[in-house]
Amino acid sequence: MRFDQILGQERAVATLRATLREGRIPNAYLFEGPWGVGKTRTALALAAALVCRTGSDEACGVCPACVRAGRFQHPDVRMLFPVMSDEDDPESIAAVLQAVADDPHHVFTYEKAASIRIGLTRELLRELAYKPYEARRRVVVLRDADRMREDQYSAMLKSLEEPGASTLWVLTTSRPQRLPPTIRSRCLRVRFTPLDEETIEGYLLDRAGVGAAPARLLAALAAGSLSRALTMRGENVAGLRDEALRQLGAANSGDASRILVAAGEAAAWSNREKMRRTLEFQFLLLRDLLRLRHGAPEDALVNRDRIADLKRVAPAIDVREIRRRTALLEEVVRAIDANVTPEAAFFSAYVRWAKHLPQDVATRAEAWPAWNRARVET
Ligand SMILES: [Zn+2]
Repeated sequence: MRFDQILGQERAVATLRATLREGRIPNAYLFEGPWGVGKTRTALALAAALVCRTGSDEACGVCPACVRAGRFQHPDVRMLFPVMSDEDDPESIAAVLQAVADDPHHVFTYEKAASIRIGLTRELLRELAYKPYEARRRVVVLRDADRMREDQYSAMLKSLEEPGASTLWVLTTSRPQRLPPTIRSRCLRVRFTPLDEETIEGYLLDRAGVGAAPARLLAALAAGSLSRALTMRGENVAGLRDEALRQLGAANSGDASRILVAAGEAAAWSNREKMRRTLEFQFLLLRDLLRLRHGAPEDALVNRDRIADLKRVAPAIDVREIRRRTALLEEVVRAIDANVTPEAAFFSAYVRWAKHLPQDVATRAEAWPAWNRARVET
């Protein structure tokens, strides 16, 4: 991994390279920013640059130290990441590292309860008592460092504070507020930002072999996270998008029976993730309409393959109306989160979608979720 392979984090990378050039490396960094924007890859690029034989501000990528660092076989580069208790044997950890080394598109995913195992941090801390094997500095990358226990942080503190330490800690997190202040205050913070859609789209097209249409839809759904786009790349996003727009077609008709059918279909989707994505596509349609009204060029639209439809609809709904419809969709999201039955949530929004509805229908629909509130089995 090299800095020049990191997507869209120019500021963070420039800061790190400058620190390497000046040789003023701190004891610990905290890389903070959203999930899936390149924090771990940047940490690994930093580790490689530090152990690289060239000793510059970028790993050469070809010397034996770089090659071993890239395969997680360098004795002075360690990476810890959260695992479930049944996955913390050395073999399954080695398998994950192998996958990261082999697949440039690898995405770390783990369950909510996964944590950085205490046995591994103990072992690591024992190792830190010794000098690095070859490199000037040992690098420890702690991925999602907020997933540790209080006593693990206390055990780490000593190493973080040690003057003239031979270890560089690189902690990554998307939830910095969950780290104890004692840890945060001892780290130099580097901020990572969401990636823009063009960057993600370009990566999917050029480097992940995704076709043009799905690449655009995935990039729009990704909300700035390349990992999110990569985890969804096997899905039929174009089909989901069409489904989402078809649903809005029913809502647009203002026909209560069509709306009821559409709400029923939306509710029948087996998983919440699909429901969410459909809603996201509906939000994205509204965003396209808003952009069109503001005179944005066609290539700024997610649904540009539907440009004729968009151009037909856009003049008829003004910015206020787009906002009103956005608020209706936000209501669906909140209602589903609050365990309103999805059918009621979608029906309530769809029935108020088109403005030409008689007022009494809209009022009755608004009342619906209240009496149909039920816990949804999950
Ligand atoms: Zn090298």
